[in-house]
Amino acid sequence: NDTAKPSYRIATIEGDGIGPEVTRSAMAVLKEACGGNRLDFVMVPGGVGHYQATGKVLPAETLAACRDLDAALHGAAGLPGVTYPDGTEVGNELHLQLRFQLDLYANVRPIKLLKGVRSPLRDHDATMAGGGIDYVIVRENTEGLYASRGAGVLLRGEFASDSLVVTRKGTERVARFAFELSGKRGGALRDGKRRVTVCDKANILRSYAFFRSVCDEVHREFPGIDIDYAYADAITVHLLKKPDFYDVIVAENMFGDIISDLGAATVGGMGISPSGEIGDDHALFQGAHGSAPDIAGQDLASPIAAILSGVMMLRWLADRHGDEALARDAERIERAVETVLETGEHVPTDLGGKARCSEMTEAILRALA
Ligand code: ATP
Ligand code: MG
Repeated sequence: NDTAKPSYRIATIEGDGIGPEVTRSAMAVLKEACGGNRLDFVMVPGGVGHYQATGKVLPAETLAACRDLDAALHGAAGLPGVTYPDGTEVGNELHLQLRFQLDLYANVRPIKLLKGVRSPLRDHDATMAGGGIDYVIVRENTEGLYASRGAGVLLRGEFASDSLVVTRKGTERVARFAFELSGKRGGALRDGKRRVTVCDKANILRSYAFFRSVCDEVHREFPGIDIDYAYADAITVHLLKKPDFYDVIVAENMFGDIISDLGAATVGGMGISPSGEIGDDHALFQGAHGSAPDIAGQDLASPIAAILSGVMMLRWLADRHGDEALARDAERIERAVETVLETGEHVPTDLGGKARCSEMTEAILRALA
């Protein structure tokens, strides 16, 4: 009896490009797994298409829904070539505004090789001991080098400069998030260890040395978890050569952005990689990919990143509300996705197959049943 269980209201923005098709797929799968009335998807507008129609990229009702409902799910935003009157691209503005308005300071990118997916890294597959590749990148999402966006200087076509901002408060909260996450994962590594790796360039820049020292201070609150350090250049090599060493990686905004794309490529790419942007009180989930306008509206997109982002959302809600049934539903969806990928009858286009978005969705719904 569903009515006895708590239900959740989800602010849902379909967005641009492939956003609507992958979002509908994720909604169908989540509804099926969780039972009829546990999830109420409240559709709200936003994105570049909405800007073209109305002059607003993030309407007030959408911001209010993302703030006041239980969680937010987002398809994708951005269409190339659409600009504000001053000539700057609208691009990802919806997302950036939500990030700052809701203070979503942790950008969480699980890098997990699912069964049935071939990694470009030789010798890695999900059936090997320890699961092969299974770590999480926690990217600081509100400061770092990208804090300079819109504030950089360009002088007489001769000199340009941006500044990197690292604050104690900003670093403490994202570091704490990373250590807590490692604790919740409970020793996911092959050697049973819990480990947070701090990714920086502390050897070169003062701001990164500060980032590292604040992470060190926060680490004292978590004696059961190891701390480890990697320079941003070196970690690109390690993520290819020994990805199974990593549990949780915490990184400054730009480094986190770069290694998140690298990590996604080792487990099947953006079309299969979920992401969550999480703050103390709010969270927004969406696939790691963009709006992919080249394939939009053709039923060619892979819905897997969107579905797995929905899984992340269910786990976040389950954790927050102590809802074990919801955590089990999340688990069942992930298993169903793995079953479909492992069976290999339906392979999405970005993984070299021919399955349409609708076919992938139906196959996953069947695997759930
Ligand atoms: P953004 O600027 O928003 O980061 P991007 O320029 O990095 O976007 P994406 O839209 O993420 O580009 O995707 C790049 C290409 O990868 C797309 O044009 C598309 O061909 C492919 N792609 C992305 N997502 C998917 C998906 N879910 N399924 C299939 N192919 C995809
Ligand atoms: Mg991109």
